[in-house]
Amino acid sequence: MEKYKMAMIPEPGKIEFQERELRDPLPDEVLIKIHTAAICGSDLHLFKGKHPSVALPSAVGHELAGEVYQLGKDVKKFQVADRVTIEPVIACGQCHYCQRGAYHLCENVSFQYRRGQGAFSEYFYAPQHRVFKLPDTLSYEEGTLIEPLSVALHAVKKSGISVGQTSAVIGGGAIGLLVSMLLNNLTGIKPFLTDINEFRVQKAVDLGARGVFAHKGEDMVQTVMDQTRGLGVEHAFEAVGMEATLSQALQAIRKGGKVTLLGIFEEQFPKIPINLFVQREISLSGSQGYVWDFEDSINMVAQGRVKVGELVTSRYSMENLQEGFNLLCKPGNNQVKVLFHN
Ligand SMILES: [Zn+2]
Ligand SMILES: [Zn+2]
Repeated sequence: MEKYKMAMIPEPGKIEFQERELRDPLPDEVLIKIHTAAICGSDLHLFKGKHPSVALPSAVGHELAGEVYQLGKDVKKFQVADRVTIEPVIACGQCHYCQRGAYHLCENVSFQYRRGQGAFSEYFYAPQHRVFKLPDTLSYEEGTLIEPLSVALHAVKKSGISVGQTSAVIGGGAIGLLVSMLLNNLTGIKPFLTDINEFRVQKAVDLGARGVFAHKGEDMVQTVMDQTRGLGVEHAFEAVGMEATLSQALQAIRKGGKVTLLGIFEEQFPKIPINLFVQREISLSGSQGYVWDFEDSINMVAQGRVKVGELVTSRYSMENLQEGFNLLCKPGNNQVKVLFHN
């Protein structure tokens, strides 16, 4: 039987490629030959052995693009050599939420890498309903970034923000930058974006945000107030996951405003300025992953409106995966998206 290599994290800080047997896809499956894969924030948690819900050893990676290599016998909507990406979520289809179409809230939700199949691999098996065709105008790199774009898109949709409204983004990682690009497109008003990393804020500015350079001592809340006649913004997006940044987001919004939370907190019970909720009638709402967002994300990139490719800061060949992870673990690394090619 033919073999292929897939990366695992056996222990904190270590990447190990293991051999897998290449089997025929199940009737409903598409076998994909992976071209590119990218590291996500959650992969870094895993690499450090600090993922809140996954223990080591574990497979790793969920952002990928490639070409269809072989089809299960019941798969009709794809052909060999189609260029595709995948939605890595696994939902049960049976629970209260799944039956109502909210599969991102599935009571038994899982991800491919948690079931032993990671994206830093030569091949990937996916059920056909989680496979999405890429238009010819999308590169494999762009296809790889449809997953994080869907996270950002879901949050922006869920916030309910509309044209002409003001906004602020706390955190200039990939998700924060994608949220910022979407807000700029959607509202017609440049969002504020802050981060402690100068490179990331500059990146946001280049992509259409009003940068707040925290490393220079610029304060998000103060800057927002100064530039909105002391009112604050209508919407803020927290894409860091820390007590201090959540507090900032809550203070940067105007009366009646809304904070949408995307960051994953290590601290389970952060302190927040609770009286603001009543005094200012503000609200705080969470956004979990994505649901029915992949097609929209693909369309937006195909239209050239969201330049996901701009987030790629480094490229490696797949065998140098360890190097890429090491780079992202260095403080002040000035990276956003690190991509790997087979
Ligand atoms: Zn991701
Ligand atoms: Zn379910």
